[in-house]
Amino acid sequence: MRTSWLHLDRTFKRAGELITANPAISVTGLRKSYGGLKAVDGIDLEVAEGEVFALLGPNGAGKTTTVEILEGYRDRDAGRVQVLGHDPQKADPAYKARIGIVLQSTGMDPYLTVAETLDLFGGYYPNPRSPEDIMALVGLTEKAGVRVTKLSGGQQRRLDVGVGLAGDPDLLFLDEPTTGFDPGARRNAWDMIKNLAATGKTIFLTTHFMDEAQYLADRVAIINQGRIIAQGSPATLAGRNSGATVIRFKLGEGAALPGPVRAAAKEVGDLLEFSMANPVYFLHELTGWAMAHSVTLEGLEVIRPSLEDVYLELTQDPAKGNVEGSIEEAS
Ligand code: ATP
Repeated sequence: MRTSWLHLDRTFKRAGELITANPAISVTGLRKSYGGLKAVDGIDLEVAEGEVFALLGPNGAGKTTTVEILEGYRDRDAGRVQVLGHDPQKADPAYKARIGIVLQSTGMDPYLTVAETLDLFGGYYPNPRSPEDIMALVGLTEKAGVRVTKLSGGQQRRLDVGVGLAGDPDLLFLDEPTTGFDPGARRNAWDMIKNLAATGKTIFLTTHFMDEAQYLADRVAIINQGRIIAQGSPATLAGRNSGATVIRFKLGEGAALPGPVRAAAKEVGDLLEFSMANPVYFLHELTGWAMAHSVTLEGLEVIRPSLEDVYLELTQDPAKGNVEGSIEEAS
């Protein structure tokens, strides 16, 4: 009998970062202080064209400061910033026409209809997208003739996104797009954002919701106290700890695992628990052994940490941070 399952738990790591020839956003060494407070303390990040990128972090971490610098609404103290090939600090009208910004609330005339509002905002841009197109994208076609004041909170938020799309931007900044939504409205908003991403727009999102980042983002960066403490795809960040995956089960009555395997198990009540980075081979051997010996593995579970687990771990103990997302590959 083979007893070496655990030795085959191999993890291959390589830099998980996406480096593209023409990134939509490229930031190196960005710094911004307010008096003595280092709000942004030397951050690097890169967002590829067509990517959905989420910036996550606790209150006061430096998200808004970073986003406002990228949008061209705040000057930086130091660092290099290129957005769509422009330095936003010298933002010319051509740059502003290529970005769309969806803040947490947009000032709108409550007595205009949805279509009139989109038409009005489109008038500020050289190549506006038609209100009909935008309403179809954000799911407001049936509300075209309804006044802003009569829309529900979720529908108003869709209109905020619609206004952000008025100039047909290549890059859309979305600031906490679903704060205050009920679960159904959040799902609808997520579908809308997925639709936008499918049209090739680059989306830079800030959010406090880990499930939102996990669902929508191709890559995320976690910022804390002005520094990026982790960056990578939600899946690779969630799996970045070498012992990330937990396998847990209760061994059937009278059964005994092979000695070296048993020795590596942690007992949690009447359950046995194993932690490892790459569980595929171990699970194959374990279930094969159980079947060959007619042993039951009651309540067998394979548990991966969520992005939220990793976020909480990193933001509560930033010393564990400064990681680039690693990619685990099964051998
Ligand atoms: P939140 O999630 O609460 O919106 P955030 O991550 O967006 O937070 P920032 O708004 O960028 O954080 O703020 C970063 C730090 O800089 C905070 O400590 C904040 O108090 C401070 N700060 C932000 N704007 C200013 C300002 N105009 N003057 C002075 N301090 C500021």
